[in-house]
Amino acid sequence: MDFELSTEQKAWQKIVHDFAEKELRPKAREVDEKEEFNWDAARKGGPIGLLGMSIPEEFGGSNVDMISNAIAFEELGWGCGSTALAFTAHNGLGTAPISLYGSSGLKQTWLPLVSSGKNKLGALALTEPGAGSDIQGGVVTKAEKVGNEWVINGAKMWCTNAGIAEYIIALVRTDENKNSKSLSMILIPTDAKGVKIGPAEKKMGLRGSPAHGVTFDNVHVPLDNLVGDVGKGLQQTLATLDAGRISIGAISIGLARAAMEIATNYARERKAFGQAISDFQAIQFKLANMETEIELARTYLYKAAWLKDLGRPYNKEAAIAKLFATEMAERVCYEAIQIHGGYGYSREYEVERMYRDARLMTIGEGTSEIQRLVISRHVLARE
Ligand SMILES: Cc1cc2nc3c(=O)[nH]c(=O)nc-3n(C[C@H](O)[C@H](O)[C@H](O)COP(=O)(O)OP(=O)(O)OC[C@H]3O[C@@H](n4cnc5c(N)ncnc54)[C@H](O)[C@@H]3O)c2cc1C
Repeated sequence: MDFELSTEQKAWQKIVHDFAEKELRPKAREVDEKEEFNWDAARKGGPIGLLGMSIPEEFGGSNVDMISNAIAFEELGWGCGSTALAFTAHNGLGTAPISLYGSSGLKQTWLPLVSSGKNKLGALALTEPGAGSDIQGGVVTKAEKVGNEWVINGAKMWCTNAGIAEYIIALVRTDENKNSKSLSMILIPTDAKGVKIGPAEKKMGLRGSPAHGVTFDNVHVPLDNLVGDVGKGLQQTLATLDAGRISIGAISIGLARAAMEIATNYARERKAFGQAISDFQAIQFKLANMETEIELARTYLYKAAWLKDLGRPYNKEAAIAKLFATEMAERVCYEAIQIHGGYGYSREYEVERMYRDARLMTIGEGTSEIQRLVISRHVLARE
């Protein structure tokens, strides 16, 4: 495997880094404190392709390869965890299922609208109050065919972007059986009658990325709003999550890299016992461990992305990449705070926010336990 990025990928990295440096990092503290989404970032990110990474060009997208997707999310995570999470919930969850499985009518109606940056975004609602990891057995939101419409009833939880979305793709039960063939994806416009979006959850971190509870009370949508096939919802969801896990891993690497850069500068400047703390081997070894972990996480993440780009199976690799990168980001952000001493615990210092932001990454789009489950299944299936 050749790890040299192509000329196009390097150019893309620079575009996204410059964007993150100008539009995300300077506002990252403010969006966290005010618990507000960075709308400017969406307005300006749309035209450079950041809202269309999973959308074909004919529908207004930038349709980047998976390594370029990973490159972008590392830079966005470096700039602002909140905005990066909202962008990945939009690209990987809110638009990818339509690009992959949607009818041409759905693609034409929704994808150009949400990729431009002029409108609201997309969202995907899998999780429910009683079901997160176990969507196959736990989803109870129902969609019934009545005439030429779906009638949807139920409740979803933790839907990132719901309050700033044009539509929500909901995973719903389309027949009574609780097996792998009874789930389907249906696109529900957020302004449809009967859609109620609760207030944004009060979160520990990523506070500029709104996540909401949503209820569907006799919501009617056309049969054509089915995304993909009836009964294929679980399969489509698992495929969507494989790619999403690469993006969450990439955001984690970006958060870790940002925290490490800040900690490195601090270590050079902070004096103790008459010398810079970077002169102490204990601090040098922390930096060495942080660098090692970030490099390993990125290298492996690119492997998972590369396999996807080749059209080869990458379920295990995506799980390993997410597991390692997200747990790595927690360790690196923890050490970044440690290097700052008491100041690291202050909200005046960015590493405090990065530590809070990193914590979600081991939970969203499949917890670390679920990643270990996926990996161990591959191990145990070996001859
Ligand atoms: C900020 C944020 C944003 C989110 N955004 C979205 C979104 O946009 N769309 C969406 O659909 N969801 C979203 N989620 C939900 C997220 O995907 C779920 O929280 C996650 O999948 C875990 O589900 P749960 O919270 O129900 O935990 P549970 O599934 O109840 O798990 C609780 C604990 O049990 C463990 N566990 C469960 N099953 C097993 C098992 N078989 N073996 C071992 N351990 C197990 C879990 O790992 C965890 O530690 C978001 C969550 C947060 C916090």
